Amino acid sequence: MENYIVSARKYRPNDFKSVVGQQSITVTLKNSIKTQQLAHAYLFCGPRGVGKTTCARIFAKTINCENPTSEFEACNKCESCKAFDDNRSYNIHELDAASNNSVEDIRNLIEQVRIPPQIGTHSVYIIDEVHMLSSQAFNAFLKTLEEPPSYAIFVLATTEKHKIIPTILSRCQIFDFNRIKVEDSVRYLSYVAEQEGIDADKDALNIIAQKADGAMRDALSFFDQIVSFSGKKITYESTIENLNVLDYTYYFKITDFIYENNISESLLIFNEILNNGFDGHHFIYGLASHFRDLMVCKDIATVELLEVGVTIKEKYIIQSQKTGLGFLLKALEISNKTDLDYRGSKNKRLQIELALMQMCTLTKQINIEQRKTDNSELKQKNKIEKTNIVEEKKEEYQKMRQKPDAPAKQNISIKKSGISLKTEIKKEKSEKEENTIVVEGTIALKQDNLQLAWAKFTQKLVEKPRLFNALKDKELTILDNNTAELIVSNKSLAQTLDKLKLRILSLLRQELNNKDFELIIKIEDVKKKKTEHLYTDRDKYKYLVEKNPYIEKMKNEFDLDY
Ligand SMILES: [Zn+2]
Repeated sequence: MENYIVSARKYRPNDFKSVVGQQSITVTLKNSIKTQQLAHAYLFCGPRGVGKTTCARIFAKTINCENPTSEFEACNKCESCKAFDDNRSYNIHELDAASNNSVEDIRNLIEQVRIPPQIGTHSVYIIDEVHMLSSQAFNAFLKTLEEPPSYAIFVLATTEKHKIIPTILSRCQIFDFNRIKVEDSVRYLSYVAEQEGIDADKDALNIIAQKADGAMRDALSFFDQIVSFSGKKITYESTIENLNVLDYTYYFKITDFIYENNISESLLIFNEILNNGFDGHHFIYGLASHFRDLMVCKDIATVELLEVGVTIKEKYIIQSQKTGLGFLLKALEISNKTDLDYRGSKNKRLQIELALMQMCTLTKQINIEQRKTDNSELKQKNKIEKTNIVEEKKEEYQKMRQKPDAPAKQNISIKKSGISLKTEIKKEKSEKEENTIVVEGTIALKQDNLQLAWAKFTQKLVEKPRLFNALKDKELTILDNNTAELIVSNKSLAQTLDKLKLRILSLLRQELNNKDFELIIKIEDVKKKKTEHLYTDRDKYKYLVEKNPYIEKMKNEFDLDY
């Protein structure tokens, strides 16, 4: 690389159209030349390395060009242009206020301003880092700025606009230079690589542009640094190694592990990163940016905010689709907080490890919360459905009231709350059902159906435990197709059943679908019970169990038969 000229100098733009990423400014400056509306003072603001001084030089060269092109660019051929290109023009004067900021320096400049240009039309005075001037120097300069000679044009450049006093600001036409976009830098770097016959990976150029953070001058310096290190081929790997940039793939890998609640793998990757010589703060800052970039990828509209190469952009889109927004927000919150707390932390490594562990539990937490929300949504849904049912019942009830044959209940208040209204209606309805349902069939009795119907009746007695216990296990005996017999152990039970007989018959006729069903209730004959009823082994067993419950226990314990 003997004849390699440093790109930053070689590829410094020498006309407006080759300035990278400041199109709106270059167009405005060209227009002012075209319309002959030149101001006496300009203030170029913006970050370092974005082309402020370069633009000021091009501007000075172009307004002095003897034969500008139809696009209002300098011709680069006339005597003035040549003088500019050879750095021997008397029409341009530069003062770096960072190192020459005394009153004396400014007075020297003012002396020069008095001398009109010998060749060309304008003298341009560029004061770089103008905010560095001492207040005395500022004041000395102010008078000249207020009443400049017709041929004098001042271009003040600064990275810190807020440090410029208002009296200066109000006298200048202000241009705000943008940070150069990564894609613009990459395009220019590709052009330089092509001109120099260097084979450069697109991803590598992206890394360079990102590292330069919007400064073209820095991007070109990094480019030179890598060329001198790895020759005519610039790869992604050689670039991240040379610029000490943490590989993207680490962030993709660790995000996957965090998302899968894999604490141990996440900590191992962090360890590997530290072993590669990166510091923890750099890592956590990068991780926060990674989460931010994933969030940006969630929406097609904001994907464009992602300043990465095409292959890496695809990776981002894939991972962003995999990770939930809730997760990304929380992970971003944790990483951002860790970034802020990092400096004050005594055990910096632990600080980051804790953050990683916290992040590793996020998806679990979110799932639990999600389930809770789902449940409450379900409850809410059920509630709505219930309300709807109540509404329907209300309508049904009102219809019922309107029917002339339906017995109207005067004292039910519709204004009662939904649920109580619902029970009222239900109660009324079931009473109505019991009293009015007409059974038409006469299906012959069967033991199974009969016991089932009986069980349904006894279920209604649960609230009266003594009665319920006395009746629930009773076996009814079929006497003929429509008649069954029930034997009870005492007279008072028989009397109670007599009182309930209408209800019993109504329910059992309906359940059995037999309109002629009759039930005969008899009081048990104790002697008969002992002698006549114990026909089968089962009956005998039952009788014994009644006498001594342990017999049943013994039967079950030893798995015996009757
Ligand atoms: Zn020219």
